[in-house]
This record gives sequence, C-alpha cells and structure tokens, in this order.
Amino acid sequence: MSSSFTQMGLQLELFNAINDLKYDDPTPIQEQAIPALLNGKNVLGQAQTGTGKTAAFALPMLQKIDPEARCIQALVLAPTRELAIQVANATRQLAGDSPVRILPIYGGQSYSIQKKQLHRGVDVVVGTPGRMLDLIQQGVLDLSKVNYVVLDEADIMLEMGFLEDVETILSEVPEERQIALFSATMPDRIRKLAERFMGEYKLVSVDQKQMTTDLTDQIYFEVNQADKFEALCRIIDIEPEFYGLVFLRTKVETEQVGNRLTDRGYHAEFLHGDISQAQRERILNKFRKKRINILAATDVAARGLHIPAVSHVINYDVPYDSEAYVHRIGRTGRAGRSGDAILFVAPREKRMLSQIERATRKKIERMELPSTEDINDKRINRFKQRITDTLA
Ligand code: AMP
Repeated sequence: MSSSFTQMGLQLELFNAINDLKYDDPTPIQEQAIPALLNGKNVLGQAQTGTGKTAAFALPMLQKIDPEARCIQALVLAPTRELAIQVANATRQLAGDSPVRILPIYGGQSYSIQKKQLHRGVDVVVGTPGRMLDLIQQGVLDLSKVNYVVLDEADIMLEMGFLEDVETILSEVPEERQIALFSATMPDRIRKLAERFMGEYKLVSVDQKQMTTDLTDQIYFEVNQADKFEALCRIIDIEPEFYGLVFLRTKVETEQVGNRLTDRGYHAEFLHGDISQAQRERILNKFRKKRINILAATDVAARGLHIPAVSHVINYDVPYDSEAYVHRIGRTGRAGRSGDAILFVAPREKRMLSQIERATRKKIERMELPSTEDINDKRINRFKQRITDTLA
C-alpha cells in the first residue's frame, strides 16, 4: 500500500497545489524522499526524468522556505538551461498560492535582468553552475543564508564538466545545510561528491523495473538496417497522434533520418551535439509547441533536455548499453501516462536485445510491422471519421 500525500505532513498550500495538479498518489521516489527531506536528512536519489523527482525535492524545499525572511534560502543546480527553466516552472506550480519567489539563472540571459531580479529579492534560485558561479564572483549572488541545496541530474553535470563549479558553489554555502542530490546513474565521482559534501545521507532509488514495466509498453520489430527508414514511416503513419523521439547512435545518421523525414513531408527536426545552443532552443520550442511532432536525436544531444511526455520513443538502432536504453525510454510513459517504446533490431543487433531485457528485467515483445494495407485502412477510417465529425 502506498502512503498518500496527506500523511506526509505537507502545508495546506502545497497540498492544494498537488490537488490542482491532479497528482493522486506520490510516486515511489516521492514516497521515499519527501519524508526524509522534511526530516532534515540529506538524500542521494537515483532517479531519472519521469519518476517525479522534481516534486520529490521541491515540495520539502518549499515547505522550509520562509518568504518573510527575504533572502536566498534554497539553491537548485541543474546542467542545462532547459532543465533550469523547467524546474523553476514546476517549482512555481507546486508552490501554489505561496508568495515564494523563484528565479531561474542561466547563461545567455542578460545579466542586468538577473541582477535586477536578485536585487528585488528572491527565495530560491534555480540555475546552471557556470552562470551561478559568475554571479557569485561578481558579488551579486549571496548564498550565505542558503540551507537547502539540490543537485539535479548530477551525472549530466559531471559529463558536461561542471563538477568543479558545483564544488566551488557548494563551498559558498553554509555548513549547516541539507543536500538532495539526484542522478540517473551513480558513477564513482558522484558517490564521492555525495560523501564529501553530505556526510550521512539516505539513499533512495527506484528500480528500473518500476520505471519501465509499469509505465511503458516495450516492443521490438526485426528489421534489416536498410529497411529501418520505411519501418519508421509506417509506425508514424499508423498512429494518428504520433508525438515522438527517434534515437540514433551517430550524428550523421540522425541528420540523414531527420532530413529524409522532412523530404517525405513529415514535421520533423534533428538534434545532435554539433547544433548550436540557439538553434537547439529553437528546435526544442517547435517540438514543445507541437509544430513538429518528430524529433530525431543522438543520445548525447537528448540528455538533460526537458521534453514533455511523448507518445513514442523509437530506438532506430539498439543503443550501445542498456543504461542508454533505459534513459531513452524514460522519456515516454511519464508518471502514470502510458507510452510506447519501440526498438528496431537488425539481425546483427539481436545479441544486444537480450542484454537490454536482462537490464530492464522485462521481456521486450516482438511484433510484426504494420502492413501497407493496415495503414490504408487506418487512413480511410480517419477520413470517414473526419467526414462524420464535420457533418455532426
Ligand atoms: P519529473 O520526473 O520530475 O520530471 O516528473 C515527471 C512528470 O510527472 C511531470 O510532468 C510531473 O508533473 C509528473 N508528476 C510528478 N509527480 C507526480 C505524481 N505524484 N502523480 C502524477 N504525476 C506526477
């Protein structure tokens, strides 16, 4: 039996906000982390996007803030500006009617605006390490009253080379503070960071089984490498509400698949590591606003991005390791909504399939690709439905 939000002792404002957001029950990570954080414990959480981790660290943080104090009391560090903005927005929603002031801080935004807002008074800053450090060094970001620190997606901060900045920022915060560190994976350097800065902590995690089996249907199609593009088009055609990510291993392939989709008349874009920050932002915005419904991406480009729940994740090829797979499919079927994870397996990739099944502790079911007749039937049905709707 899962415990409910009511039993957690959250303030009425937060409880009302949760109700407005229509969260019925806490997710497993929330169930473990919220009581510990409310109790003042440090928490090391192994959890990725889609597990409800943001609310897990934000609710206790909001409960501890005193808006009357008029100083920065909490700090959230995130690897990318998308994530910083996303976390700031989610936190604002969770705060409901509370007057708490939350400021996102990230590179690329004008210094003068950020400084003005800091001057006016802020309770929580959510930002990327680089810009945050910059503002500390300029003497405009005062962290001397911070007592709650969150490191979100710490493994990506590590991967992006931010760990030193994170350490410098942590050393600016008073010793008497509580830390919540969340990371999808737990490489050694993250554990060491946790031990160094947190001392004692409670470890919370969701096992991969909970993440994948409950929320996402996983299937695979056996397709020759040369037929994968055709297979992709069929899947998109058969789903009237297709809104998905297509994952590929290399930049070249990602670009090719993205361009071929566009040439065929689909609303698609691609993302990989060589695409400029500005361009990336523009593409992501198009995807979020659903002006495009297909985004082809490399694993690296997609890490740390905040994308709304998608209906489909297509693994155009089998990822190199099972961790990358879990990461990819974590983007569908978020918190109770179901989604499909589809894997294209070429004959020479079959060996890797069983590795993934072992890692996710779930059998991935084999399916037959929809035939052209299936697609045509669907099209005709959709057309008939439109006529009925119009007549009605
Ligand atoms: P996160 O893992 O923090 O990125 O959250 C993933 C999604 O789950 C977000 O859209 C949240 O609004 C949603 N969510 C978080 N907690 C719950 C909950 N207890 N019940 C339903 N949805 C939730």
